[in-house]
Amino acid sequence: MDVITLLAAVLVNALLMLLALAVCVGVRARGGLQAWQLMLLGQALGFGMLIAATRLVPLVTATLGVMALSASASAMVLTSARFLGVSVSRRGLWLPPLLLGVVHVFLFPNLKQTTGVTNLTIGLQIGWASWLLLTGVGRARWRWLCGLAALGNSLLTVARGVLVLGWPEIYPRFLVPHPLNIAHLMLLNASLVLGTMGFLLAHRDAAEQALVRLASLDTLTGLFNRREWMQRASRALGAVGSAAGDAAVLLMLDLDHFKRINDERGHPVGDEVLKLAGEVLRGELRASDLVGRYGGEEFCLLLRQCDPEAFGRLDARLHQALRRRCEASLGFAVDFSAGAVRLQPGESLAAAIQRADDQLYRAKHAGRGRTCCANGVL
Ligand code: GH3
Ligand code: MG
Ligand code: MG
Repeated sequence: MDVITLLAAVLVNALLMLLALAVCVGVRARGGLQAWQLMLLGQALGFGMLIAATRLVPLVTATLGVMALSASASAMVLTSARFLGVSVSRRGLWLPPLLLGVVHVFLFPNLKQTTGVTNLTIGLQIGWASWLLLTGVGRARWRWLCGLAALGNSLLTVARGVLVLGWPEIYPRFLVPHPLNIAHLMLLNASLVLGTMGFLLAHRDAAEQALVRLASLDTLTGLFNRREWMQRASRALGAVGSAAGDAAVLLMLDLDHFKRINDERGHPVGDEVLKLAGEVLRGELRASDLVGRYGGEEFCLLLRQCDPEAFGRLDARLHQALRRRCEASLGFAVDFSAGAVRLQPGESLAAAIQRADDQLYRAKHAGRGRTCCANGVL
């Protein structure tokens, strides 16, 4: 099997996958998949140039070829980082292709050194991508698929660099059908296919997570929306019913004179108040508490293991924090009225909400800016 044919196979493979992604997902696919398209483009350009270098101005074409391959390895790092949601140094991405280009020109007369440095640089770059993927968090299978494909690719590339520099007699030249060359190009071809498959799965996972987020979170405040909160609260209520002594409190909370804020200061200011209220609730509650936007300017809270003293302190903190936060950010204070009930074993969520709403109604009629509690909360 000759190396040029294998190089051409990598080129055609990369181009076809690039075309397939462009047609199926679109060239403007945002995030990781866009970086992967750049990676495929870099592979096609790089190997195309290396094939051309056998006939055309080798110094220029081979240098551009290795720069394209190094840039493509950086695109692989970027793809991995984007799908994993981690950040990577920008300098670490654009510096290797540029430096490699310069070094390649200087070392060009010495084939052994250019091959060695090129393979070591690109191998380490791909190793960076595989390290990110294999050490990333989460149980997604695509991470392993892409990480192992990159690891194999990286190890063989580094091995070529080490061999050509240290033992040139057993690794004659890049274009010679040496078993390592053949194995590397076949593995590279496979790793492009596996990587494309893996990152497509990652793309699908990300889209699915975005849909789940959209369906369960309120876009303005980032809290759970009513449907999600009800589902979670119902599940928690089942647990409350079964766990004797789980002192859970349900709190329904409604901003005071909110319509007036909208009317006098405009809807965007009203929206800002709602966002601040969301932030205050998230900031003051514990991870085990469940908070959602029930509708308009109403919020619902399920507070697990909340004894009377803890509830009293939390309630005072919430009133104070919302007033201060709005005063500091918007220049006027906003308060809320609330109704609280302690959940009874076996009580339905709807019944508990109704009881809390009755208390909220009492709080509004008693002059607002306060929390009314059913027996047993305090
Ligand atoms: P009260 O003190 O009795 O609770 O009076 P209120 O003005 O707060 O209550 P009311 O129910 O009369 O008004 C609620 C307002 O909330 C009316 C509605 O236009 C506004 N609202 C609902 N959703 C949003 C939203 O997403 N953004 C903004 N800016 N306003 C909203
Ligand atoms: Mg209301
Ligand atoms: Mg209101």
